[in-house]
Amino acid sequence: MKFGGTSVGDQECIGRVVGILNHYHTAGNELCVVVSAMSGVTDQLHAIAAEIEGVRDDPPIDTFITSMRTRHGKVVQAVAPGEYDTVMEVIDERLCNLKNILTAVHNLRELTPRSRDYIISFGERLSALIVSAALREAGVPSLALSGCEAGIRTTDRHGCAAVLPESRTHIQSHVIPLLGDSVPVIMGYMGCTGDGIVTTLGRSGSDYSAAIVGAAIDADEIWIWTDVDGVMTADPRLIEDARVLPSVSYHEAMELSFFGAKVLHPRSIEPAMQRGILVRVKNTFNPAAAGSCVMDTSTPDHRVVKAITYIDKVSLINITGAQMVGRPGVARAIFSALAELEVNVMMISQGSSEANISLIVDDEHLAAALAALNEVMQRGYIQEVGHDRNVVAVAVVGVGMAGSPGISGRIFTALGREKINLMMISQGSSEVNVSFVVKQADGQRAVRVLHDEFGLAKES
Ligand code: ADP
Ligand code: ASP
Ligand code: MG
Repeated sequence: MKFGGTSVGDQECIGRVVGILNHYHTAGNELCVVVSAMSGVTDQLHAIAAEIEGVRDDPPIDTFITSMRTRHGKVVQAVAPGEYDTVMEVIDERLCNLKNILTAVHNLRELTPRSRDYIISFGERLSALIVSAALREAGVPSLALSGCEAGIRTTDRHGCAAVLPESRTHIQSHVIPLLGDSVPVIMGYMGCTGDGIVTTLGRSGSDYSAAIVGAAIDADEIWIWTDVDGVMTADPRLIEDARVLPSVSYHEAMELSFFGAKVLHPRSIEPAMQRGILVRVKNTFNPAAAGSCVMDTSTPDHRVVKAITYIDKVSLINITGAQMVGRPGVARAIFSALAELEVNVMMISQGSSEANISLIVDDEHLAAALAALNEVMQRGYIQEVGHDRNVVAVAVVGVGMAGSPGISGRIFTALGREKINLMMISQGSSEVNVSFVVKQADGQRAVRVLHDEFGLAKES
């Protein structure tokens, strides 16, 4: 069971989490827990790391450490009063390590990817201690483990590390012996390299940690506890009548998360899918609701379109040049240059005249993408590179779309009727999604129009 940031956001939330765990533990289940940092803490750690690298005098390190201590200390007092002193001792030791590394970053005015990963892993280092102590306070034996102690071994790609296959046996030997009577609590979002250097798995990576651990211990099910009732037909923050999907297939869940459905991390499905483990998404604040199941085949449904996602903070890049026509090797030059600078390309579309290729990258990768393409331009493969940051990508997702004619027609007719201009269109060959790009100003309306067009708010 993995609990996200809002699920462990304060003492009341952690109390609720302990209630849920106690309930399932008492019912005779073997449980292993993965937790995120308390909500907002990872953002604050990112912010302080970036800030102290840049400021010369009076770095706000002490104020930061004190505010972390106050927030976490208050929660310990409420959920584990019996262990307050011992838990605070460990928290103080950890905060002392954090203070030392922040001071070093400030003194050197250099934030390396390695030190950033160490810093941003502290949210989970603290939250897991507290959840574990709260469980003990409730009479459930529990131990907190870092990602590394739990056996999660990763590549050294800091900030976005991938879990290595050898983790499976490490996790089995470290975690399985703890199951049964006790409920181990693993710090999400982090792992370590073979040399024991701390790495992080990318934002929202605790879902990925949970999937890796669940798959390694051959769990019967992997439960993702969050702040909504399940995987929905659209982001409920955008579409107020979005509906919970009782079941989605692994492929649908992957497409949804890849195209912006924040409820699951894009890499969190594959480990479960490989072992055929059911993933259940449930609401910590409404545990009685059934939630959503992510599994092999979703319940046959007359609906071809399941959900609409929306992803902002992306940029459209247009590459043109008449010399691209019929010239082999242009695509290779473009994509290998992008890969070399580790640019993640989210969507690709090529005009049939071959004189144009359009790409979508996330905003963070825009500068690197433009640098890579500039180099390709110098080599004479392409003529012009334009970009636009004011765009959003929208994806229409559903396994039933494969082999169902007329869906694209309905999508584009509905958007045309609303005078929403399409800047780029792309369809994966799996036909699980049709995605397109529109101006930022049209994004929410596009989701609304399609949610209505396919009647997603209504029960089927
Ligand atoms: P956690 O902290 O539990 O990991 P996240 O904030 O990462 O939670 O993810 C849950 C949020 O994902 C929801 O509050 C919701 O606004 C958003 N979300 C986006 N798209 C969807 C979707 N299709 N279904 C459900 N939630 C979605
Ligand atoms: N705490 C990390 C983040 O905010 C990981 C997670 O919540 O899954 O990105
Ligand atoms: Mg999340």
